[in-house]
Amino acid sequence: MQNKITSLNKLSRNLWWSWDTEAKQLFEELSPLLWERNNHNPVELLRHISNDELQARCQFEYGDKIDQVYARYTAYLNDKNTWAANNAPELVKDPVAYFSAEFGIHESVRIYSGGLGVLAGDHLKSASDLGISFIGITLFYKEGYFRQYLNHDGWQMEDYPLQSAENLPIEKVTDANGEDLIISVNIAQSEVFAQAWRLKVGRATLYLLDTNIAANEPHYRDICCRVYGGDQNMRINQEILLGIGGVKLLDKLGVTPTVYHMNEGHSAFLTLELLAKELAKGSTQQEAMATVRSRCVFTTHTPVPAGHDRFSRDMMHYTFDKYLSAIGINFDDLMMLGSEDKGNIYGLFTMTVLALNLSRSANGVSKLHGEVSRVMWQHLYPGKSVDEVPIGHITNGVHASSWTCGYTDSFWKKFAVSVDEMSLSREAAEAVLAKVSDSELWALRYILKRNLIDFIDRYLANQLFHQHINSYQNEYDTLRSAQNTFSPDVLTIGFARRFATYKRAPLIFRDLDRLDKIINHATMPLQIVFAGKAHPHDDARKDYIRQIVQHSRRPQFSGKVIFLENYNLGVAKRMVSGVDVWLNTPVRPMEASGTSGEKTVLHGGLNFSVLDGWWPEAYNGENGFSIANGECFENNEEQDSFDAEKMYTVLEKQLIPAFYERNEQNIPEKWINKIRSAIATIAPEYNTHRMVRDYATKYYLNKKEN
Ligand SMILES: *Cc1c(COP(=O)(O)O)cnc(C)c1O
Repeated sequence: MQNKITSLNKLSRNLWWSWDTEAKQLFEELSPLLWERNNHNPVELLRHISNDELQARCQFEYGDKIDQVYARYTAYLNDKNTWAANNAPELVKDPVAYFSAEFGIHESVRIYSGGLGVLAGDHLKSASDLGISFIGITLFYKEGYFRQYLNHDGWQMEDYPLQSAENLPIEKVTDANGEDLIISVNIAQSEVFAQAWRLKVGRATLYLLDTNIAANEPHYRDICCRVYGGDQNMRINQEILLGIGGVKLLDKLGVTPTVYHMNEGHSAFLTLELLAKELAKGSTQQEAMATVRSRCVFTTHTPVPAGHDRFSRDMMHYTFDKYLSAIGINFDDLMMLGSEDKGNIYGLFTMTVLALNLSRSANGVSKLHGEVSRVMWQHLYPGKSVDEVPIGHITNGVHASSWTCGYTDSFWKKFAVSVDEMSLSREAAEAVLAKVSDSELWALRYILKRNLIDFIDRYLANQLFHQHINSYQNEYDTLRSAQNTFSPDVLTIGFARRFATYKRAPLIFRDLDRLDKIINHATMPLQIVFAGKAHPHDDARKDYIRQIVQHSRRPQFSGKVIFLENYNLGVAKRMVSGVDVWLNTPVRPMEASGTSGEKTVLHGGLNFSVLDGWWPEAYNGENGFSIANGECFENNEEQDSFDAEKMYTVLEKQLIPAFYERNEQNIPEKWINKIRSAIATIAPEYNTHRMVRDYATKYYLNKKEN
């Protein structure tokens, strides 16, 4: 019995469970109530269940299930017949070191804010599945990103619950003597210390640096407090810890990465520590730079110039003066490496420029974003035409088995071995689809939508409860009417993302009368679910949220438009599996890739999006719907009017009629055909297995400058 309990504990301490349906069910089954309450965190769950209780539970079939899952888990860890073993043996030996300011792996590990983190988490999981030796580096944020709740006015409020190490599947990294392994970095005139935590994600390992230790002054302990929290000063300190501290940690661990991958410019200071190591060996600065370049690759994610991290010369000087004299680099030489207008060392220091200067390859995250990035950075490459600017692209994907809910997973397993297998190629997906009837697909949609609605009812009840809503009778009525008014028979649109201006969450409310007619159509109604967080410092975006909440309380929309608070990985999973249509309204070309729409596909969801990010590559006229044809206007108002008009027209003329047009069996054949086309064309391409294989062959193995 005890060994079954040990197995269960071991399973809880490797996030492999988070993308294995049966492993997840093991924990949920133990106590559905605690599972919900503890944010689906098995470590915390197990801490709340006594050993006697576990002993009792493990006696029956439950014990057998533990054995089965545990056997699969160990087989996974020991599998030698992986993609990498067969195609990239070099990547099995020395690890790829992947640096990212955030990782979104599971909702119970709150070290992420949004899309960048989710991408990093999905990259890590696919690298593990493919058998690539892979190490992630990030920070341990004790408060994580904020938890969102709405006040009675619909205004976003934030709180920052602490996450404690004992409730997480992390362990302290120790040295050969069993002592805490401590590294230090130089910040301004101080030495700042950090310990490290280890988190297992399948075969991959994520290291989290943590300055929250007694050796540090309080203001340095707070470097590891919040994801993207604080001011510019906090930002530069976090980036020093991530980049320079990360390299020092790998050194202490005795790891020599085959490549350093910078996921966005936040970690670009890692190149300075690599330079320092080369200079210490006696290389000249030129030689050192060449060596560092040959070891680093860089992925940029930001298509707008203002979105890139920049630091003033003064701040750079204050922060780096001591470090530079220790490693023997001249301050002006450093400023040159981050200077955007060549030779001007008195302007701002741009992290992306540092990364571009010191990596052998760089890429954007969709075809369109690659093009935009080449134009944006052309001035750094005098004499090169736009096409010659050395920035390529690899389009983002999602980790298929993490994003398929339990029901969808078992649905596809009836017809294929796994969702990964059916996502290998278009042919593989089509072969599976050929075995599935229209009515089976339609039943899948219906059940998934019912599950979402059940979730919404429970979630809104809780939202109401903690808002102490009784004193606000109006809101209570509105939300209560939303509960149980959503119907699985009604076309359901989902919109959830970070509330950035360019994503234009309120666009669908531009013409309230027209939206009223659409939503309240007598025979072809519509319902919409919203979610999303605004950055805590951004009042303008919080006002977007407030507007949407207020719209949802208008009599004509009440019970048909809802806003779910605290968008996170868990809420995202529920939404992408249940909705019929995923709406995306960015201002082109500001969405570098976007990935949330890719998550809906295996659930039979369809994308309805502006031709931006990944969508222009994927959209073929059959596999979803587009808003406009990529027209761009200088004037924001004009752009919004134009796109809103197109959006309403597609809804009225194409999308809604296709959903409600039924055959004798009450099945929308045209709609189902679109779902089939989406699965066949999108699932095989827009997943992180394909994406990581592309990184491996184009950038990790290919040592040439490109
Ligand atoms: C997938 C995901 C994102 C990224 O969505 P976009 O399409 O890039 O807007 C952000 N946050 C969460 C919680 C997600 O799951």
